[in-house]
Amino acid sequence: MQSVWEGRDTLGLMPTGGGKSLTFQVPVMGMEGICLVVTPLIALMKDQVDNLRERGIKAAAVYSGMSRDEIVATLENCIFGDYKFLYVSPERLSSDIFRIKLQAMNVCLLVVDESHCISQWGYDFRPSYLKIAEIRQLLEGVPLLALTATATAGVVEDIQEKLLFKERNVFRMSFARDNLSYVVRRVENKMAELIHILQSVPGSVIVYVRSRRETREVARGLNRAGISADFFHAGLSREEKVFKQNAWRFNERRVMVATNAFGMGIDKPDVRVVIHLDLPNSLEEYFQEAGRAGRDGERSYAALLYTKADSGKLKKCITDSFPKRDFIIRVYEALGNYYQVAVGAGYNDVYDFNLYDFCMPYRLPMLQTHHALKILELAGYIEYTEEIDTRSRVRMLVYRDELYSLHMNSETEELLHALLRTYTGLFTDDVYIDESLLASRIGKERQEVCEMLISLSRARYIRYIPRKKTPYIVFTTSREDTRFVSIPRAVYEERKRRFEKRIHAMIDYAERNDVCRSRVLLIYFDEEGASDCGSCDVCLAKNETGLSNFEFGQIKQAVKEVLRKKGSLRVHELIVCILGGGEKFVENVNKVEDAVSEKVGNVAGSEVVEPDVKMSGEEPISKAVTGNKEDEKIIDVVRFLVDTGELALEDDLISLVEE
Ligand SMILES: [Zn+2]
Repeated sequence: MQSVWEGRDTLGLMPTGGGKSLTFQVPVMGMEGICLVVTPLIALMKDQVDNLRERGIKAAAVYSGMSRDEIVATLENCIFGDYKFLYVSPERLSSDIFRIKLQAMNVCLLVVDESHCISQWGYDFRPSYLKIAEIRQLLEGVPLLALTATATAGVVEDIQEKLLFKERNVFRMSFARDNLSYVVRRVENKMAELIHILQSVPGSVIVYVRSRRETREVARGLNRAGISADFFHAGLSREEKVFKQNAWRFNERRVMVATNAFGMGIDKPDVRVVIHLDLPNSLEEYFQEAGRAGRDGERSYAALLYTKADSGKLKKCITDSFPKRDFIIRVYEALGNYYQVAVGAGYNDVYDFNLYDFCMPYRLPMLQTHHALKILELAGYIEYTEEIDTRSRVRMLVYRDELYSLHMNSETEELLHALLRTYTGLFTDDVYIDESLLASRIGKERQEVCEMLISLSRARYIRYIPRKKTPYIVFTTSREDTRFVSIPRAVYEERKRRFEKRIHAMIDYAERNDVCRSRVLLIYFDEEGASDCGSCDVCLAKNETGLSNFEFGQIKQAVKEVLRKKGSLRVHELIVCILGGGEKFVENVNKVEDAVSEKVGNVAGSEVVEPDVKMSGEEPISKAVTGNKEDEKIIDVVRFLVDTGELALEDDLISLVEE
């Protein structure tokens, strides 16, 4: 906050749920002018605007799906209306109208949320983010705050460079989540294990899977096992999504089985468990999704269920995501033919696009074709947008005074009245409407309202364009002869290499079980000095000494530290050095020596440790020297380290083995 207040360009790295929005909302309230916030998450944008308004702060948002009039009105408000916050989705930044209005605004701070999206090196690159640099140049002297919840060192550098930071300035909150226990389970039957976990841990749960089909199937399986569950994916209608989200948020449903489309912008604090049944594509995604557990600080679990076959499946993603170059060129050519665009023509043409319809006649595999289109987009040939949710629109086709002479039933009349009461401008322009809202106003189901609107439309009283989801394709250059289509290395080879690296890091996380899970994640995010968490499955696993890895590691570290400082020691001296110190030292020495002599019947404490125990097959260091549990643990660890050759035992003196 301090850094933002001082007007310096700042990059803030903080895990989700770390009070991100406060870092800029608080300073902005003390500044003159409006704060411009770029964020790709429309749901989150609306949430924040509502929140601010509830607190009496003027805030507005501009995003895809708004009409030109709505956008102009919103922007004018921001210029003249004493607004404090304007939220914008990145693809809106390039419109002329936005740029013109922006220059009339008194912007005090530019905030870029999810700023890793600007880096081609990151896992979630969005070309529209590159426009932010152009916006920066229009806003001479306005400081910038970039935020992200995940970024490795390379991406951190890249963000600052792409966003034209005047000087490097990074603030990093630790990504360690003390109340979150990471667990990886290698299992044969994931469903059985899932049910087992859900039966042993109470509370709200998210289960992540990769496919939409799987969300349904797993939810059905859970319900059959008596666990209340629902499913969620991007293919649902907006109403279904809202309904399902709310049922889960208010604990009417316990488990949400979802694809990665679920969770962004949803801040439910008391999620106790996040379970992944499939491996995500990267640790960035895993960390974000797993991090949705335990926002309230209570003990929570992030479990990954894994079978050997999973790594093969994930590796296949690499070949699917990066089809061969000649295949990509073939897709480009097919696209031109499909829309009958001549070579040299087609610049800025926009087409509705249906992947299935396109792939069929050319016998193209759908998944690879989808990725080929993505690569063509990055290479600058097309813009490929999936599932843009256009809202329903209505326009009156009759004059206002004609309305009352029309013959219609009372229900239809009621609907028309509701329409006219709820929206203005219907007689002059297409107006976005919400069928559910109208339905609630006249006490009907949404579906009924839709049908009534359709019949009004057939009677030519209104024009009704129902909402639809249409991906579309824009030719951003005129059609190129395939001989000249080039896919830059940065778009293909380099991205592929980083993609592979991320996939392998993910597989490593699942397969390794010798390093604390939390530490693996923190090291991946370049957080230095991370320590073992003490609560993940690796930390809690017992090794041959019968101690958990975590406890073993702590004692081992202490033993080595003491030996490094003091050279060789007898075992009881070692124990005293670790457990005691200062005044307690003498007392402990005496206690240990007493105990030792009592036990072994030897007055000289130095004789306790048998020198060549290994040969005699006897216990190398006598256990239960004092009967004290802590002592025993240290002895166990020392014995183990001597056995494995990490410590030397000679003439009852223990010392470090020189490397
Ligand atoms: Zn751990």
